[in-house]
Amino acid sequence: MKSIDTKCVQAGYNPQNGEARVFPIYQSTTFSYETPEEMGDLFDLKKSGFFYTRLSNPTLDALEQKITALDGGVGAMACSSGMAAIYLTTLTLASKGDNILSISSIYGGTYNLFNVTLPKIGIECRFFKPDSGIEDIEKLIDDRTKFIFVETLANPAMKIADFDMLKAISDKYGIVIVVDNSLATPVICRPLEWGAHIVVYSATKYLDGHARSLGGLIVDGGNFNYCGNNRYADFNTPDDSYHGMVYAKQCGKAAFITKARVQYMRDIGAQMAPMNAFLINMGMETLHLRMPRHSDNALAVAKLLQNNPAVEWVKYAGLESDENYPQARKYFDNLWCSGMVTFGIKGGREAASKFQKALKLFRIVTHIADARSCVLHPASSTHRQLSDQDLIDCGISDNLIRLSVGIESKEDILQDIDEALLISQRS
Ligand code: PLP
Repeated sequence: MKSIDTKCVQAGYNPQNGEARVFPIYQSTTFSYETPEEMGDLFDLKKSGFFYTRLSNPTLDALEQKITALDGGVGAMACSSGMAAIYLTTLTLASKGDNILSISSIYGGTYNLFNVTLPKIGIECRFFKPDSGIEDIEKLIDDRTKFIFVETLANPAMKIADFDMLKAISDKYGIVIVVDNSLATPVICRPLEWGAHIVVYSATKYLDGHARSLGGLIVDGGNFNYCGNNRYADFNTPDDSYHGMVYAKQCGKAAFITKARVQYMRDIGAQMAPMNAFLINMGMETLHLRMPRHSDNALAVAKLLQNNPAVEWVKYAGLESDENYPQARKYFDNLWCSGMVTFGIKGGREAASKFQKALKLFRIVTHIADARSCVLHPASSTHRQLSDQDLIDCGISDNLIRLSVGIESKEDILQDIDEALLISQRS
């Protein structure tokens, strides 16, 4: 199974004679065995199988196998939300006294986790600006830096990650690169192919694609050697909480994802619900059809906005004039740039409010990446807890409007935006 399209539809489940064609929902917390020895072997990781859904479940496993195949990794773990995926990734790599680096132009919830919550448990996040070069980032690294975090396509700043630069830094210092690929999805970009080591998703976004279920995914690239790397002492010393396991030695390429599951999913319990895994899995069966359509519609919207007098600026990497266009050409398949477009409306917050109220097809929701078009004004909603300086650091101005362009008819979408822009400028 080579093609991304086929993997979207079929990867993760290969029904045997007489089995259900659609992978079933295993709505069971636990799994039964005939002997205590068999159960013991599962706990010791001598055998693979299921014993308690907080650690794993067949429906989740099918989804994990699909995303692993799509990203080209060695294993994955389903989580209750994108935030849970990012938090569990952080705990697996860093602990008290450590630090992580993150680009500042990231989703507001992640920014808050890194900026406010992690320091409370003794993990410092050192932010770097979106236009930082290698030297700027190098200055932030020390012996206790555990990973560098970026979003492939930043929400809502629209910055595309400079994977080549990140790879150069990682190669020089032996540091893990973690990439949030929620907005690009593996149909558009596969960060592991560009040198990233861990990919995280808010599966709530395009993977589900229909605004039905919260979910997160973590994919382990299996391409980072923790063995003997002093920066990752935790991977090289026995885990007293799990049978004295030395992950780097005993788990081979799957060291990270095994540690994430048996140590932190076990302790935190932020597991995806089987029903959500079923829905997200089904959503992913059409991901390869939806992403080109989202991208095509969004490009048309960006072009309309570019030529509209009510608009101060537009950000969409698919526009040749966009500063991220070179990265899109390099890293994004077919120059598909996903469905999110941001723009600055003339007239600030007031015009932003009028514009949103005038839209008919686009609905005001705190969500993106839905098959249905939606709109949001981040400064007064998702990012309203941030200070003015934090907003600037995240790349968000008070006239920024975020459109998540759906897969409806292009003509209907363009008409809706055109009419609402006109109304937004009336006094
Ligand atoms: N990462 C990105 C890029 C997001 O946009 C979001 C949510 O909007 C998250 C992570 C958090 O995901 P969730 O809402 O599934 O926890």
